[in-house]
Amino acid sequence: MKSLSYRYACLQINLAAIKANVLALKARLNKSTAIIAVVKANGYGHGAVEVANAAIEAGATSLAVALLDEAVTLRANGITAPILVMGWVAPEFAQVAIDQKITLTVFQPEWLAVFYQQQTSGSVSIHVKLDTGMGRLGIRTTAEMADFFRLLDQSKVKVEGVFTHFATADEPDLAYYDQQNNRFNQLLAQFKQHHTGEVIVHTGNSAAAMRQPNLMYDAVRFGIGMYGLYPSIYMKQKRPFKLVSALSLKTRLTHVKQLAANEGISYGATYHTEAHEWVGTIPLGYADGIQRKWQGLDVLVNGKRMPLIGRICMDQCMVKLDRAYPIGTEVTFVGKQGDQEVSLEEVASHLDTINYEVACLFTARLPRIYLTQE
Ligand SMILES: *Cc1c(COP(=O)(O)O)cnc(C)c1O
Repeated sequence: MKSLSYRYACLQINLAAIKANVLALKARLNKSTAIIAVVKANGYGHGAVEVANAAIEAGATSLAVALLDEAVTLRANGITAPILVMGWVAPEFAQVAIDQKITLTVFQPEWLAVFYQQQTSGSVSIHVKLDTGMGRLGIRTTAEMADFFRLLDQSKVKVEGVFTHFATADEPDLAYYDQQNNRFNQLLAQFKQHHTGEVIVHTGNSAAAMRQPNLMYDAVRFGIGMYGLYPSIYMKQKRPFKLVSALSLKTRLTHVKQLAANEGISYGATYHTEAHEWVGTIPLGYADGIQRKWQGLDVLVNGKRMPLIGRICMDQCMVKLDRAYPIGTEVTFVGKQGDQEVSLEEVASHLDTINYEVACLFTARLPRIYLTQE
């Protein structure tokens, strides 16, 4: 989806990087393990439709999202690959999933009961979620499993998969992860006593898939790693294999001036120039997802690091320059310029959060531009 933009600011999304990351994981997985590309939250802010198409071209065989709305958007944009909604969808909306061949995540007898009361036509495809220690969604016990299958009507509900989600797969200590794996195997054995048909079994997120590619059952749910981002700082240091980050945030100087000493910058005039200083104005602000906490972070101008000074405004912010630069000079907020790089992890650390959250915070106002070559 190319959108026309008249701004000196955009997110550049490198689809070749997305493909390279899918191929890099695929090369390490068992041949029988498929890749489910996770494109929830508009593809972690990168653009769900474009990322989904690139991932499928590179060999992902299906997609996963968090919401039924997100699945419907993919279908509306011509995507025909299987889609799993990993979050809870109200049974009232099951007909939409049936009509659009979207697979739901189901694990509650209550859900089945309400679903049966709907006047639906056709059967709904589901993956059954097991809660092995994430504490979020899923069947936790043998008794819950029995209750679920007691109510399951196979003429109305097609069980196509079973899965769980790890809470600590990105951490140095794998004890809790191992415990979840053990619980999964116990619950899976019980599941198979209730359900003898063929199912897709999947447990791994990016962290698990990258660390234990040979222990990944039938599929992995590849999210953050597909975008070229590591699931944690620990994993970025450990680097089981090299990922290529797909996202850069680029803008340009719109105004450049030299100020005398002791001149105030931005709302509150919280920054005052120390001596004669060159200051650049940038057309990005918190309405684009550049939160006020970005103040003090370095951006790249002319291949050098220069700090954002004064408060970030809604639509603009200011950078301290080392000299005069022409209007239109490129400024990189995230990504590489020359031999310097500002990574999403550096931004995340400054904002006291994780790369996942920073990627999701860029707003719809920022145009996404798609590159197809690295
Ligand atoms: C988001 C999500 C994933 C993907 O996790 P990454 O760490 O981004 O790979 C996998 N499974 C579930 C259930 C999720 O919610």
